[in-house]
Amino acid sequence: MLIGVPKEIKNHEYRIGLSPAAVQEYVNRGHDVMVQRDGGTAIGFTNEDYEAAGARIVDSPEEIFASADMIVKVKEPQPNECKMLREGQILYTYLHLAPDPEQTRLLAEAGVTAIAYETVTDNRGGLPLLAPMSEVAGRMSIQAGAHHLEKVNGGSGTLLGGVPGVAPGKVLIIGGGVVGTQAAKMAVGMGAEVTLLDRSLVRLRELDDIFMGRVKLVYSTAQAIEQYSQQADLVVGAVLIPGAAAPKLLTREHIKNMKPGSVLVDVAIDQGGCFETSKATTHQDPTYIVDDVVHYCVANMPGGVARTSTIALNNATLPYGLALADKGLEALAQDANLRNGLNMHRGYITYKAVHDDLGAQL
Ligand code: NAD
Repeated sequence: MLIGVPKEIKNHEYRIGLSPAAVQEYVNRGHDVMVQRDGGTAIGFTNEDYEAAGARIVDSPEEIFASADMIVKVKEPQPNECKMLREGQILYTYLHLAPDPEQTRLLAEAGVTAIAYETVTDNRGGLPLLAPMSEVAGRMSIQAGAHHLEKVNGGSGTLLGGVPGVAPGKVLIIGGGVVGTQAAKMAVGMGAEVTLLDRSLVRLRELDDIFMGRVKLVYSTAQAIEQYSQQADLVVGAVLIPGAAAPKLLTREHIKNMKPGSVLVDVAIDQGGCFETSKATTHQDPTYIVDDVVHYCVANMPGGVARTSTIALNNATLPYGLALADKGLEALAQDANLRNGLNMHRGYITYKAVHDDLGAQL
């Protein structure tokens, strides 16, 4: 199969659909890969790296969209990319169609077979192509929080790990899924005093086995949120209720009662945020202050560490991508988890949740 990898064109998107290592895996299995010139240069993947892996470097996205059997990307195609897609072509990328009727209409018009990373499943009901970005965001949340606790960045001037003779900072993590667990690991690693709240007793039991007493694990109630947020230097919002907007767990009243200069990192901002005062920010202008509390609400945290994120994403997307390249659409028939990724086919919406939201509008 001929695989095409265009340079991402969304504002400040430096990730790329295939790393050189992933390209080599496709080439080793007899596939041809075209990569747009300078597609990975911003994150240190040079054109020479891609050529050494066996890719052909091409100058224009038009060339890629016109001839590739499968397009591998990171972000949803922008309108001018949608217009270049063709019937019979496979598009393999993050799509997030439900809130995006324009993209859905354009993909329907193109007749492309679109497989969305975010709806591919695994045998345990998880979302294996979303998990690596949650891992990245979770680990980054503590790094971002620690940075903004510094006085010059608006924080209280607290070092999370303390030093001998000075108590460590207190970190509260709300939600103990992928994001929350990785955040807890980083906070523990920095030497902070960590409390994690979750609504799932099953998950709290699993975390108890992982952290062996190093993290205080508490059932998530309004009272617990109020109590622990008042003492916290850093609060990480990491909840998810699948398919729903994030619940506003930390209210304006709670935030007023927090210590001045403490920091909130709302990772759940891509689902609307779990703090009442959260509004989405960008890497260019990541924070704002409400009631003396620093708010960091970057909706696309993994984009800030685009090199790590690209490699992590490729590790997860590669097996499914290779199956598509080897078997074409037959791969969907053979693998129910991959089939769950199918969102559009020849002008039809093939994913129920997207159809329920947008079917009537097309
Ligand atoms: P997950 O499903 O693995 O974990 C969510 C956890 O929240 C679960 O353990 C669940 O029991 C818990 N939860 C639900 N309601 C709760 C409550 N009231 N109190 C405490 N815990 C509660 O999800 P995840 O992969 O960890 O993702 C968490 C959030 O981070 C999602 O909204 C996701 O979209 C977001 N995210 C954002 C970025 C970003 O760049 N901002 C990147 C990746 C993920």
